[in-house]
Amino acid sequence: MESGTVLETLRSLEEEALRELGTLEDIDSLETWRVAYLGRRGKLTTILRSVGSLSPDLRRSVGAAGNQVKTLLEEEQARRSDEIEELEVRRRSSLRAIDVTLPGRPLPQGRLHPTTQILREICSSFTAMGFQIVEGPEVEWDKYNFEMLNIPRDHPARDMWNSLWIDQQDADGRLSMLMRTHTSPMQARIMEQTKPPIRLIVPGKCYRYEATDATHEWHFYQVEGLAVDEGITLANLKGTLYEFARRIFGPDRKVRFRCDYFPFVEPGVDMSVDCFACRGEGCRLCADTGWLEIMGAGMVHPKVLAGVGYDPEVYTGFAFGMGPERIAMLKYGIDDIRLFYGNDLRFLRQF
Ligand SMILES: [Zn+2]
Repeated sequence: MESGTVLETLRSLEEEALRELGTLEDIDSLETWRVAYLGRRGKLTTILRSVGSLSPDLRRSVGAAGNQVKTLLEEEQARRSDEIEELEVRRRSSLRAIDVTLPGRPLPQGRLHPTTQILREICSSFTAMGFQIVEGPEVEWDKYNFEMLNIPRDHPARDMWNSLWIDQQDADGRLSMLMRTHTSPMQARIMEQTKPPIRLIVPGKCYRYEATDATHEWHFYQVEGLAVDEGITLANLKGTLYEFARRIFGPDRKVRFRCDYFPFVEPGVDMSVDCFACRGEGCRLCADTGWLEIMGAGMVHPKVLAGVGYDPEVYTGFAFGMGPERIAMLKYGIDDIRLFYGNDLRFLRQF
């Protein structure tokens, strides 16, 4: 073999190896490169091994050149290995770095439950008219829930409320405590403790032992209202509730009052607004009547006033009670009361 040819081969091998080395970017491909050139069957090793078949003179010069190439490649490999390691470190730290130009991740945002929203709306429409907000206990004595509201024991009107009783008996062995069936007990509680004038509303949760359907829940909210003073008449009741209806359902609402029966008022009325969906012409929402019932009301019964020590000859008052869920159902076109407490986010997110 000509020494010139071998030396040329060595030079082009060196060139090829260095060019390839510059393109490597990870430790694995660096190892592949090492095996290909410097490994036991690598290209350079093969050439160096063939030196033995040359004449002694050539053997010396080619061997020296070959060893130089080998040393160079080993040094370059070590240098490239350091570079690759540094690249790796930089790549990993850039993954951890914060890119301040990226848009922020949206935080999940909560909102008020539709019942809470309508309760706040109802309350603020009354506080704007000078009413105070008062809350009361959800577990109530029979005395406040019924008796002081002119509903004595064995009175047939008790059948209007299916009650959830607490296992608590009075001296006669009768159940005497229950989950309040309405917010009306606060009428008696407040009047017992306060002198007129009284103007307040009582928002709160009520409970009834009731099979549920599209219009009945076993627990729901009520807003009770009470105004007592000298000279209060049915005209005050109508004016106040008319203003309320206009604030909640729109300024051009008409209202209708009809006689109704509640044991703790006399006379009692039910109040309707003209259907805002069909403007009184009749539709599905108002069951073709053109009217939507929104609450019960009336003048406080003289017996209730006397029961808390007010002189019914001096003081008169009106009371009203409404279901905020029903108000929300009418206002937003919700057709099933059970949706309010079913905890279905698809429903709740609409409000
Ligand atoms: Zn209608």
